[in-house]
Amino acid sequence: MRIVRFVTLRYEEPLFDWERDPSHPRGSWGLLVDNLVYPMDRAPYFDVGSDGVIKPILSIGAYTLDEVRLLAPVTPSKIACVGRNYAEHAAELGNDVPPEPLIFLKPPSSLIGPGEEVVYPAISERVDHEGELAVVISRRCRNVGEKDALSYVFGYTIANDVTARDLQKKDGQWTRGKGFDTFAPVGPWIDTTFDPADRIVRCLVNGEVRQQSTTALMIYSIPRVIAHISRFMTLEAGDLIMTGTPSGVGPVKPGDIMTVEVDGLGSLSNRVVAER
Ligand code: MG
Repeated sequence: MRIVRFVTLRYEEPLFDWERDPSHPRGSWGLLVDNLVYPMDRAPYFDVGSDGVIKPILSIGAYTLDEVRLLAPVTPSKIACVGRNYAEHAAELGNDVPPEPLIFLKPPSSLIGPGEEVVYPAISERVDHEGELAVVISRRCRNVGEKDALSYVFGYTIANDVTARDLQKKDGQWTRGKGFDTFAPVGPWIDTTFDPADRIVRCLVNGEVRQQSTTALMIYSIPRVIAHISRFMTLEAGDLIMTGTPSGVGPVKPGDIMTVEVDGLGSLSNRVVAER
């Protein structure tokens, strides 16, 4: 099942009044079936039954994909990310593999959807792409064991952990380098039945492959990462986890188009533009 968030092109505004909540600006939830978007009247992860099956509540008639603009398919309270979760990527930046999952946060204000522009900050001289598989949490999760962790997963999507590498190094803390507005492209949908085992993750810049690896090479598995995070932080329904980027990260410049692909999940493209 594929879940999207969208605005209709005709009105560019949400379908439901409750969506005007400024903490979740614009957009409606929808179920994507055969290129048709069926609006849903609330966030889908509230409808996951104890059996793990989603019971979507549909409302009015469907739109074609031509009639909508897709937004980031998530409204997380936080975005937790794993650093250095592929050995070759840790090595390429001169870092050791961390002895336990290395977690940092990106602010929800950094989120953008498919096709939206990533703004290259005037104060950075090195902005990198980082293609990643991302996990969406289905229900409140605290102190969960590895064995049960996957029962808290709502589905999977694609992310680009855009990073101002120079500021990340300069600050020591990663918040600024990772946290600029537009530095978290996510989408185009959440797939609730995707199997993340041994999937190719690829990042292209202007059509040229820059990163290509498989999720089988993650150092810390998705259950391990969820268990680790939930030991210190309550994960809420809709929270997003970026699982780390493989080797091949590198700089982009204004005008470039970054495309992240995860086999079986789809592709996410965003153009880089200079800060005005
Ligand atoms: Mg990353």
